[in-house]
Amino acid sequence: MRFRTLLLPVYALAFALAALPAQGEELCAACRKLPQTKDLSTCKICGGMTNSGSFHHCMGCAERTMTCQRCETDLSPAEPAKELENPGTHTRRRWTYVHTVTHAGTRSEGHHGELSFAGQPVPEPGLNDFVATPWGRLYWVGRPPVLFGGHGWMPHPKPSQPVGKKVVPPLPAQVPAP
Ligand SMILES: [Zn+2]
Ligand SMILES: [Zn+2]
Repeated sequence: MRFRTLLLPVYALAFALAALPAQGEELCAACRKLPQTKDLSTCKICGGMTNSGSFHHCMGCAERTMTCQRCETDLSPAEPAKELENPGTHTRRRWTYVHTVTHAGTRSEGHHGELSFAGQPVPEPGLNDFVATPWGRLYWVGRPPVLFGGHGWMPHPKPSQPVGKKVVPPLPAQVPAP
């Protein structure tokens, strides 16, 4: 009896761990609460394998498109991440953002943002088109010839121009998911 009592918390812990979604699953808060079927299925985006038959697309495509594997809801934060204001290289899993500052502290201070996914630079889209990233949306503001202001991928769209459409990095060429 005493032995069984001691084991109870162990069972409870094991049960709690089993109920957690597998690590790396890209699901929205609502879908995280839903039961998952244990079968596997085909990713509707890349044709790869999903980790549950109830999922629309695979983990790799969820990270690339920043959408919920199950309901396709956008998982990108609504507000741009503060950390991107710091110059340097920012990395979240397969996403990389490089922020460089030129002529810092002068009236010509310029900001340059390079964005890549799985080691491939995201192709340049139309002006103010955006990519949903783990740091929030990043907008393509073009490469203005002036020194000051934003260049490349920026956390805010070019003012006085309409916001464009969402674009998604292309499928990584022969790059296996982590
Ligand atoms: Zn996929
Ligand atoms: Zn969802």
